[in-house]
Amino acid sequence: MSGGIKWSNRWGEETSSIGFTVRIRSPDNPSDVGHVKLSYRHINRWSNESEQMDYRVPLTATPCNYGGFRYWFTCPWYRNGIYCGNRVAVLYSISKFFACRRCGNMIYMAQNTNGPLRSMISKADLERTQEAVKHRFYSGKPTRKYKSYMNKLDKYHRQWIIAERYLSSKMN
Ligand SMILES: [Zn+2]
Repeated sequence: MSGGIKWSNRWGEETSSIGFTVRIRSPDNPSDVGHVKLSYRHINRWSNESEQMDYRVPLTATPCNYGGFRYWFTCPWYRNGIYCGNRVAVLYSISKFFACRRCGNMIYMAQNTNGPLRSMISKADLERTQEAVKHRFYSGKPTRKYKSYMNKLDKYHRQWIIAERYLSSKMN
């Protein structure tokens, strides 16, 4: 089975998209259930570096009461060199990767220590600034709030250049 999802910003412009392919081998064999492959193009908006990602997430299955199986993601993240393998229903987008909430929280914690992720602009912070923009332009010129949002967006993307290097090192 395969398909895709698209996202757009509050102004209706498409901001991201992802494709997926699900392969199920044997739902009743926990060691070989199958996987989902997430295909997406990761673009760092600051550096314009673009990378085609094929991110494979193993699946697990649990039997349902009335037959059939329920499928779960297995978190493919490595936390301090140890494979996570957490069984989850939701994966979080972390830079150009996807991981469970627990692994995501580790990165959130790293933002509050003296590591390279210190004092990063969070997605929530960025979204708050975006929410505050009522009008993007006035008399053909960008409004103060829109400019401030665009500045923060720039910083947000730029910080991920350093963060991605750090996170890539944590992935293996
Ligand atoms: Zn995890």
